[in-house]
Amino acid sequence: MEDYQLLIDLHKSANRQGPGGDAETKMALDLSMIDQSAPLKIADIGCGTGASTLLLAQLLEAQIAAVDFLQEFLDVLEGKAENMGLSETITTLCCSMENLPFGNEEFDIIWSEGAIYNIGFERGVKDWKPYLKMGGVLVVSEITWITDSRPSELQKYWDEEYPEIDVASSKIGILEKNGYSPIGYFILPEHCWLANYYRPMQNSFKDFLYRNGNSEEAQTIVKSENREIELYEKYKTHYSYGVYIARKLN
Ligand code: SAM
Repeated sequence: MEDYQLLIDLHKSANRQGPGGDAETKMALDLSMIDQSAPLKIADIGCGTGASTLLLAQLLEAQIAAVDFLQEFLDVLEGKAENMGLSETITTLCCSMENLPFGNEEFDIIWSEGAIYNIGFERGVKDWKPYLKMGGVLVVSEITWITDSRPSELQKYWDEEYPEIDVASSKIGILEKNGYSPIGYFILPEHCWLANYYRPMQNSFKDFLYRNGNSEEAQTIVKSENREIELYEKYKTHYSYGVYIARKLN
């Protein structure tokens, strides 16, 4: 739990806990071809402090279940929702994405930015499908190779971090194999990684280390985040998050 406490401490004050952006969330929503004037039921899985949840709540007439297994992130989300007058629209749910308490065909949209990797893309798209209405839409971002070959240093790093990393055609194939019809795909541009996520995190390292007495564990977290950032800066032409939008077929 100590590890989570430090990760919570590092990430909870940030606008987002992974790469992404408001314009990109909006683009995914537009590509979903969902009727945005209809009342919608949405689950935002692995919502963190709610970057996408709050935007969707502002844009749509929706009831949103915001799911994360860290209550501290959900507390921040609830505070923001209250300040924005969105408390009626958003219900937080502290539970694991592996064991969701939802009923069959409950949702028009299942949304998940930068989080499905925690259970793996294939398992996530399979396990979450029953909760979607027929014709409902899955919007999910997933780390994706955007070139057909990679420098070995990068390949090795990601093979260890997340062996399911692959090219978009493979991710789209998984969606097709599992009863979805893919309707959109784009990759997150550089500003979603650097300006929106890595730079604010880097700017918080000094205070984070100070707050935590410069402990070895805190230093290890900073080192590992810096390594990830360094690799992104060096090899960003080879990978990004892909955003996949797919309709449930059967
Ligand atoms: N969607 C948010 C965003 O884009 O800012 C957060 C993305 S962050 C990279 C991944 C989120 O998934 C974290 O908030 C983390 O607490 C949550 N998470 C990780 N494993 C989880 C699990 N097994 N069940 C539920 N949430 C989980």
